[in-house]
Amino acid sequence: MSKKYTKAYIRNIAEDLVEELRECEDGTVTNTWELAKQSVYDDLENADFFELHNALMRTAKANKIRLDMSEHENKAEGLPYHLTFTVHNQKAQIKCPRCGSTDTARYIYGYPLFNENMEKKLDEGKWKLGGCCINAAEVNGQTVDIMPSRHCNACNKDFGTPPILLTPKKDLAEDYRDIVESIGFSIGGYIYGHTDITIKKNTNGAIVSVDKFPGLLEITDDLQITPEKWVKIVDTLYGKLLLHEWKKDYIDYSVLDGTQWELVINLTNKRIRHYHGSNAYPPYWNELKKVFRQFAKL
Ligand SMILES: [Zn+2]
Repeated sequence: MSKKYTKAYIRNIAEDLVEELRECEDGTVTNTWELAKQSVYDDLENADFFELHNALMRTAKANKIRLDMSEHENKAEGLPYHLTFTVHNQKAQIKCPRCGSTDTARYIYGYPLFNENMEKKLDEGKWKLGGCCINAAEVNGQTVDIMPSRHCNACNKDFGTPPILLTPKKDLAEDYRDIVESIGFSIGGYIYGHTDITIKKNTNGAIVSVDKFPGLLEITDDLQITPEKWVKIVDTLYGKLLLHEWKKDYIDYSVLDGTQWELVINLTNKRIRHYHGSNAYPPYWNELKKVFRQFAKL
């Protein structure tokens, strides 16, 4: 590390470059050095590049982007940030929480530098200019930017706002993750019965109960989970699956019976959020089931 930049700053650059990796064509060959130069991070020193390269590898992996450097294995070829990698980013495409399309653009805010790269990204629908008015809200004493991070090119809606519940009448801004009190998920059908899972926050974390109908033979004890686990579940629902931006109903009228599901979120002050579906599912359905599958077979 040079003295000029902090680790946190380098991490921010890595996060920015990961968005470039997400947007480039699958199979693109590049390296950390090229990527940084192209995004105009050109005043980094060699020591910073070492740090950046490592941060980029970690951040890419966390975002389901595979950077294949296997061709350099067991070879002594010089500095890691100069070595090329092949980008595999198909699993990293972000789904619109409303329609499920992965044809989405990233919002660029402020006064960006116009150059060839920018024009190309705008033409390809990978970027969208968001202007320089940034709406923010005060949440827990901190100012939080509440602008959408993406735009869906298929359904033309914005998404990717932080999970902030605004109640303008009361001049109130709350983070959903702070106000969820219980989560109820139910799935089943007329023929094969249904499974209900309830996760209710308590002073030791949360208590999970599973009920199966009909299923008198399968009585399961309630399970106490840690506060960390509770936080992780709520954070997955709102931070990753963008539950606050889902539609409320998903219905396929052409199917009779079949599978019905319901997700009920109880918030503080008796507020309720209700989502349900009949033979139709939200774009983040598999990810949603994964949250509950740790407690019951679904
Ligand atoms: Zn959409």
